[in-house]
Amino acid sequence: MASTKEMTNDGFSADKIDEHVWLGDLDSSSNHCVLDQLNITHILTVLDFEPSIPRDDHRIRKFIHAEDLDEHNLLEEFDSAYEFINDAVSQQKNVLIHCHAGMSRSATIACAYLMKKYHLTFKDAMERLRSKRNCVYPNMGFERQLRSYEAQYLKPSNEKSLSIEYKCKLCRQVLFTDVDLVQHLIGKGRFDSQAKSSAYKAKQNAERKEEIVCEQELFTNQPEWLTDIFDRDTNNGEIDCPNSKCQSKVGRYSLIGEKCTCAKWVNPAFHFHWSKVDACRQEKNSEIERILHQRTSLVARSDE
Ligand SMILES: [Zn+2]
Ligand SMILES: [Zn+2]
Repeated sequence: MASTKEMTNDGFSADKIDEHVWLGDLDSSSNHCVLDQLNITHILTVLDFEPSIPRDDHRIRKFIHAEDLDEHNLLEEFDSAYEFINDAVSQQKNVLIHCHAGMSRSATIACAYLMKKYHLTFKDAMERLRSKRNCVYPNMGFERQLRSYEAQYLKPSNEKSLSIEYKCKLCRQVLFTDVDLVQHLIGKGRFDSQAKSSAYKAKQNAERKEEIVCEQELFTNQPEWLTDIFDRDTNNGEIDCPNSKCQSKVGRYSLIGEKCTCAKWVNPAFHFHWSKVDACRQEKNSEIERILHQRTSLVARSDE
């Protein structure tokens, strides 16, 4: 750890964790002599109280009120903290992020910054951070928030490569994508049609281990091209292919809902027929092979 410290500032209790960015404790934030020496012009404080600031203070500051508690929501501050740090760094200015010990609160903010800046997973960002400051240890709640941040930042790009388009089988018009799919857990037969009574809930809890996402039918959000249904008199009807030259009957909708073949009630239901759509994606992938296989077997079953 000593080797990563600025050798000229041995008494300084902060560590340089990235270009222009230091992470430290409360002491480091009041060590004005070294802060000046290192030309640290920006200070991001993450504490449950606002520390006193010298009268002639010339640094640019941001204060985030935070207690070092599992349930404290720091996640909602990640983006504004990132903006503050990134603003400074993009002007070649130096920033100190600090809390009380430089271990949990400020380390969480620093970790989120590295994740967003370098598109790192929580694990990789934390390893990187610990290689610069080995006492870094966010509390369990902050760790969960960082993992959820990871899902927000890293999932969309991963999902893009797995994106599946569902096209009209007749005219190849794209009807929706996997992002539009509405998923549900497989229904539990007669229990599913009952109201959410305590007996139902008890039964559901007992069967929790068996909870499986249903892939038997294709339900989606209301497709953006299906706009005229609210003008119709009935709550249900056919979904026609939006290609005016095709108008193949590709599905059904019901605003009051519909029962899936797994017995689960889906409400509202925008239900596409597997036999009328093709699932397609750009690259070959085992996931689509699996879905296509399942579709084929379902169509075969319904033809019996
Ligand atoms: Zn069509
Ligand atoms: Zn189902």
